[in-house]
Amino acid sequence: MKKNILPFVLPFEDTVKNHNLNLKRKQIKILQVNMGKLCNQACHHCHVEAGPKRTEIMDLATIDRILQLLKQSQTIETVDITGGAPELNPNFKYFVSEIHKLEKKTPLTIIDRCNLTILFEKGQEETAKFLREYRVNIVASLPCYSKENVDSQRGNGVFDKSIRALLLLNTLGYGKDGTSLTLDLVYNPLGAFLPPSQKTLEKDYKKELKKLFGIEFNRLFTITNMPIKRFLKQLEREARLQEYMNLLVQSFNPKTAENIMCRDLVSISWDGQLYDCDFNQMLEIPIHLKKNTLWTIESLEELARQNIVFAEHCYGCTAGNGSSCSGSTIKDNGG
Ligand code: SF4
Ligand code: SF4
Repeated sequence: MKKNILPFVLPFEDTVKNHNLNLKRKQIKILQVNMGKLCNQACHHCHVEAGPKRTEIMDLATIDRILQLLKQSQTIETVDITGGAPELNPNFKYFVSEIHKLEKKTPLTIIDRCNLTILFEKGQEETAKFLREYRVNIVASLPCYSKENVDSQRGNGVFDKSIRALLLLNTLGYGKDGTSLTLDLVYNPLGAFLPPSQKTLEKDYKKELKKLFGIEFNRLFTITNMPIKRFLKQLEREARLQEYMNLLVQSFNPKTAENIMCRDLVSISWDGQLYDCDFNQMLEIPIHLKKNTLWTIESLEELARQNIVFAEHCYGCTAGNGSSCSGSTIKDNGG
């Protein structure tokens, strides 16, 4: 059932119609798997509302069903693993190693959305080496290269640990030329504004992180804060929700709408439900098909060429240069 969480702006679907856009899902290339809401952090803006006390965690039967569907799939290219902190799921290493074993014409790309500090938690001493062994791409959040800003959004001490983790990953070859061990960073604004140019910010990050700490990385992804969950509550507390929604609506860019990530991605929750993206998952807006769990579909291909369920938070994906789990969705010329 579609939920109207933000009813005071022009419905997203009307905007899509007004621009004559056809935004059905195409082929599915990315399977995004949320392994649970448990996390060692509890960041202010977290759309999952993850934290150390969350108990929702993907079990082995669900993981095995995903592996079965991946084995059959002819179109999936990437498995994007997220959470919470997915590494805290006791079956994380099993899942990664089993994906790695799947025999495909082109090996599947595996992404770990890593919060960096997890690498220093008890029991995670070997995780960084494990990720290197299985050549897992790492996408890591670092909303600023200043300690004050990172700690204010992600918690005290997070910046120093994140820097230590990035140095560790560089030592293992991540982010270094010629290793093909990918280390991408994620920036999201520290408040109710849109991200700046991804290209320009990437240059600044590369310069500053190299100068200050000797850190190297591959790409920077800029992601817009979605007006849902913790960030929504923050906007409400600050009485800035309407202002922020107006900004997102006024910044609607039809070119970004063509490239929204749900057009080639499907998201799976810790309990095996299917969603158009991780944001819809957190809002409990299921895909529009009746068969909306891992156990009721026969193959992932059934989800291709289907309608996507939109709501007003979708303006967060189409504002300015666009926003997705891989950053802006149109070519960014800087400036
Ligand atoms: S590290 Fe990520 S998943 Fe964990 S609380 Fe922060 S934003 Fe949420
Ligand atoms: S919020 Fe999800 S469903 Fe909406 S446009 Fe973004 S990716 Fe698509």
